[in-house]
Amino acid sequence: MITINNKEDIVALLQCPPEREEELYRVAVESRNKTIGNAVYLRGLIEISNTCEKDCLYCGIRKSNSSAQRYLLSDKDVIDAALEAYEQKLGSIVLQGGERSDPKYVLWIEHLLKEIKKQTNERLGITLSLGEQSEDTYKRWFDSGAHRYLLRIETSNESLYKKIHPDTPLHSFYQRVKCIELLKACGYQTGSGVMIGLPFQTVSDLADDLLFLQKMDIDMVGMGPYLEHPNTPLYAHHKQLLSLQERLRLSLHMISTLRILIPDVNIAATTALQTIDPLGREKGLMAGANVIMPNITPAQDRKKYNLYQNKPFSEESTEDAIQRLAQSVERCGCSIAFGQWGDPQHFRRP
Ligand code: SAH
Ligand code: SF4
Repeated sequence: MITINNKEDIVALLQCPPEREEELYRVAVESRNKTIGNAVYLRGLIEISNTCEKDCLYCGIRKSNSSAQRYLLSDKDVIDAALEAYEQKLGSIVLQGGERSDPKYVLWIEHLLKEIKKQTNERLGITLSLGEQSEDTYKRWFDSGAHRYLLRIETSNESLYKKIHPDTPLHSFYQRVKCIELLKACGYQTGSGVMIGLPFQTVSDLADDLLFLQKMDIDMVGMGPYLEHPNTPLYAHHKQLLSLQERLRLSLHMISTLRILIPDVNIAATTALQTIDPLGREKGLMAGANVIMPNITPAQDRKKYNLYQNKPFSEESTEDAIQRLAQSVERCGCSIAFGQWGDPQHFRRP
């Protein structure tokens, strides 16, 4: 019997010993299947640019990493990738990139949103993951056709947040929380999440992270292991990290525990899981996740979007990759809901 009544119960589940893992994953999957079913929704991930105004201490595309080769996709690249996602019946896409808020960029995103909506007869769902913006920008992008937004809190512990970000107004914990509130008020289906296995992070912090997502009434969650990048300041602590396998296990425990805590949210099996283990995303599904984000960024630029090292890369066409994914999803007892937006049930709840 697994029930969650308080933070201590969450901590205990996150520390689940290997011999009880199977039970934890089984209960999470049962809870998912009973509440929202066993459908897996796809979001084609388009990494539109790796230029960023910010300097998060963990991220490989931070502004101060002068060895990152910067790129910006062309209109055609983005729209072609979106049309490919539409034709392959992915149902929806995510436009993700480094953070920029200059007027030219804001307008460019508006243009892309309107074009993609028009060229897919309003049928392709669009999520944005473009960082902290003003209320006006969030509204304009919403009015141009985006209906979901992902903004991870990264960690809900303010003092840990300060340790992994530079001490500047651009990297304020308060502002990050405020932006999540703005997104919800704008009407977006709002996603958030954290990195797991950060230096200085405790299991108690992670339990608080899950309670934070619950308190903020988040609809969609993307959580994955922290993966060190050698050209970042946080790399200095890499010797104190949990092993990659421990970070993977802890991430799977986070997914299962969240599923039991809030059964009707969408939970992504993230690329970072797949970076540690080629079957990481499948393991995520078998721990209770229900969303996969296949990377459909044009191949020549995909290699440059290095948030962390060893990000998986394949030359496979989108069509082949999706076919292979469909088979492995079936082996996890799930099936891909092709052509559907896959809105989180949590969002519709009155
Ligand atoms: N610039 C936007 C979106 C791109 S970054 C933003 O920051 O919101 C998307 C996510 O990548 C971040 O939220 C962070 O959680 C994750 N990320 C960045 N560096 C990482 C690392 N070294 N290991 C694991 N995840 C990382
Ligand atoms: Fe920029 Fe996002 Fe990386 Fe921070 S995590 S440096 S905002 S891309």
